[in-house]
Formats: sequence, structure tokens, C-alpha cells
Amino acid sequence: MRYHKIPDETIRRLPIYLRGLLFLSEEGQQNVSSHDLADFLRANPGQIRKDFSYFGDFGTRGVGYKVEHLIKQIRKILKLDVVHKAALVGVGNLGSVVLAYQGFKVYGFDITAAFDIDSKKIGKKVNNIAIENVSNIQTLKKRKIDIGIITVPRAAAQETADALVKAGVKGVLNFSPCYITVPKKVKVLTIDIAMDLARLPYYMPSC
Ligand code: NAD
Repeated sequence: MRYHKIPDETIRRLPIYLRGLLFLSEEGQQNVSSHDLADFLRANPGQIRKDFSYFGDFGTRGVGYKVEHLIKQIRKILKLDVVHKAALVGVGNLGSVVLAYQGFKVYGFDITAAFDIDSKKIGKKVNNIAIENVSNIQTLKKRKIDIGIITVPRAAAQETADALVKAGVKGVLNFSPCYITVPKKVKVLTIDIAMDLARLPYYMPSC
């Protein structure tokens, strides 16, 4: 099945629905109404129904959605129904934490390689992954790694992105506090906790 013209906002919400559904599944729940799912996620039931309607009707009136079926469909839409191998570049404070985090596996991500430029780190292991010299980065294609995670200092971010693209990755998750440019065929998402923190006080009630 092919899906067309799905708004980015809907795609942004699907992982949130997936996370909630995975939790409900763990609790042994088999069916859920859009109302209950919305309650659980503090979301809007109409919005949930509208988002799901882009992909056909998953629900049955009076019964709601079958949790396992919905999980399967959302995984398929997000292309999370296959394992994506990822490589991380820059095994410092943040890189080590990202490497050690087990929560990516649930969504089908497997970080199988880590690179650094620091000779004191090369050969050491974090979460059972040996840190390699960044000069090995061109081996990614052969190793079927299609996602790169950048956790290097800002000054090294663009050259790292260039190297990842040259090595054949199709997606980059960038934690460095800067914009990086890549060819159109590659998707970049930049995450910056400081940017979120910087707008938090604006929304906080004044004393
Ligand atoms: P760090 O100095 O502890 O780690 C950086 C690592 O990158 C080091 O191990 C260093 O040897 C390695 N490195 C440097 N140049 C390299 C290169 N060319 N190739 C490969 N490895 C290289 O820094 P940190 O505190 O872990 O922060 C890492 C990055 O993440 C910084 O850009 C920082 O600003 C950013 N950061 C982002 C967030 C966020 O919310 N997105 C939060 C914290 C830190």
C-alpha cells in the first residue's frame, strides 16, 4: 500500500501514538477506542481519528482499534517494520549516553557502530560497541548502516555529515548545535534540548 500527502504534523504524532500503544500492549490491552487512547496520551480523539484516516480505517465502531494491528500498521507507515542500523560519531559525554540507551531498540533501531577521532578512545567499548577510528567511516555501506548520529562538537559537525553522506547513509540525526547541509536525497533531523529549554520560561506562569 502507498500513502500520499500525509501532513508532517501527522507523521510527527504517529510515534507518540505508537509509544502509547506499545505501553497498552505491554499492559495486555487488546482494544482501545480513540477516546481512551486520547485520554491516555492527553491528546484529542478527533485528531487521532483524523490522523488514522489518512491510512484507511483501522477501527471498528463500538470496539475501537485493535492494539496489535494498529501497532503493526503504524510501524509499517513509519517504515519501522524493518531494523535500521545506525552509526554514532563522537563518543563523548552525550554520545556515550546515546550509545548506552536501550530505548531505541523498541522502534527498530540498532546502533551497531561508533566512531571517534580521539586515539585514547579508539578500541574501547561502550555498551559492547567498540569505538572505531573515524577514518573507518567509509565501511558503513558494506555494513548496511543507513542512519548516522552526530554527537561531535559543532566545529566538526558539517565534515562529519559529509563523511556520513559519502559513506551512504540516508538519514542523519544531528545533536550538534548547528544546521548542517546535505544533499536532498538525505534527511536530517536536528535535536537541541537547549532550544526547547530556551523557550520554556516564556510559557511558564510568572510569580
Ligand atoms: P564531548 O566533547 O564530550 O564529546 C565530543 C566527542 O566528539 C569527543 O569524544 C571527541 O573526541 C569527538 N570528536 C571531535 N571531533 C571529531 C571528529 N571530527 N570525528 C569524530 N569524533 C570527533 O562533547 P559532548 O558534551 O558529548 O557534546 C557533543 C555534541 O553534542 C556537542 O556538539 C554539543 O553541543 C552537543 N549537545 C547537544 C545536546 C542536544 O540537546 N542536542 C545536548 C548536549 C550536547
